[in-house]
Amino acid sequence: MEILVIGAGVGGLAVARGLLAEGHRVRVYEQAPARRTGGKAVLIWSNGTAVLNDLGVSLDGAGCRIDRIDALTSDGRLRTSMNIAHAAGRFGFETKAIPRHDLHQRLSDGLPDDLVRYGMACQSVTQDEGGVTATFADGSTATGDLLIGADGHHSVVRRHLWGDGSVQPATFGTWQGLSPIDIDLTGTNHHLMITGREGACGLMPGGDGLLQWWFDVRWSPTDPQPASPLAELRRRFGHWASPVPEVLAAATEEDLNFFGHHWNKVREVVGEGRITLIGDAAHTMPPTLGQGANQTLEDAWVLGRELTKGGDDPAVRLRAYEKARYPHISLVSRMAKRNPANLRIPPLIGRLIPETAQTPLLARFSNRLTEVPALQSA
Ligand SMILES: Cc1cc2nc3c(=O)[nH]c(=O)nc-3n(C[C@H](O)[C@H](O)[C@H](O)COP(=O)(O)OP(=O)(O)OC[C@H]3O[C@@H](n4cnc5c(N)ncnc54)[C@H](O)[C@@H]3O)c2cc1C
Repeated sequence: MEILVIGAGVGGLAVARGLLAEGHRVRVYEQAPARRTGGKAVLIWSNGTAVLNDLGVSLDGAGCRIDRIDALTSDGRLRTSMNIAHAAGRFGFETKAIPRHDLHQRLSDGLPDDLVRYGMACQSVTQDEGGVTATFADGSTATGDLLIGADGHHSVVRRHLWGDGSVQPATFGTWQGLSPIDIDLTGTNHHLMITGREGACGLMPGGDGLLQWWFDVRWSPTDPQPASPLAELRRRFGHWASPVPEVLAAATEEDLNFFGHHWNKVREVVGEGRITLIGDAAHTMPPTLGQGANQTLEDAWVLGRELTKGGDDPAVRLRAYEKARYPHISLVSRMAKRNPANLRIPPLIGRLIPETAQTPLLARFSNRLTEVPALQSA
């Protein structure tokens, strides 16, 4: 089949990879002028690395393996600890923090040079009995048998299918940086998640001496941005226990980006006819569980497998993909809507759940999030 993909982010590149391997003719249209070279790190959990493995994408030598996540109170007491290495051993796939541009690079490795057409902003899509047509900002058009909207949380393809107003602001946003901060944690495989009255702070090594650090704060789209975000973060979080003050002392304004989060109610039927959506276009959610990109990879994987099944009517395969994804995505999305600062397990309860009980709990929870058989049977 001739398949058009709108957007060359994690989802667009992953789905193109899988479909090309199955012998489809694929063209990807990306509005940016060139492949992404910046961006912060994302956490790719075992379900994401399992999909990447199946797509022939290795993360060896990139980013940093995460073996443990400690949840702390703002005064430094341990709420609970998750042994990710143990779970990864059970699943067979590790969890990694990886800079986004490295992930894009790895997803692009080995793909034909002319697969992605850059500088092509899709403005509208139409379909009829015979196929689909995408129209771009420069007035050109492309036609195919199917169209996949992988164009992220401001998706034009979703707007065509669902109309306006389906995505709402969440209650919080994130100040985030990925920078060379020389504290002990940067050289480890440990991820800290610290929560308190003022918000939440995440710290995670990103490989190559980089530390990914972020602060989640209450936010609404009408809030004015602080004149000096770093001064505001130091005022708000500077009294928290080590290593938060050290991170804030070493950070610079240039490292910082702000993301106001959004959310949409997941739909059972996402697309229509010969058009479907994957990734944030279908399920925009805050990064509370760090599953947005992982679920996007799962979308790409499931959609690719559905389309290998053949049959006369491709629309039937697209609806089968959407049906398969719905239970997983709706669970993740509902959980991700919560502000991480509200996820405050009292230290005593955390200590009452022994680590030996946590791995099976984490495994069971992870199985509900994933479609990948290797993990579901773990
Ligand atoms: C602060 C923050 C932290 C996060 N951390 C994590 C994490 O740790 N783990 C995790 O799994 N997820 C994380 N996520 C979520 C993750 O980034 C997204 O879920 C993921 O990038 C979605 O991939 P996508 O391909 O659907 O969209 P995107 O990666 O946004 O890609 C969409 C692409 O489409 C292009 N595009 C848009 N409109 C058009 C158009 N009209 N025409 C052509 N091209 C177009 C864009 O330029 C872009 O390249 C985080 C998100 C945020 C904001």
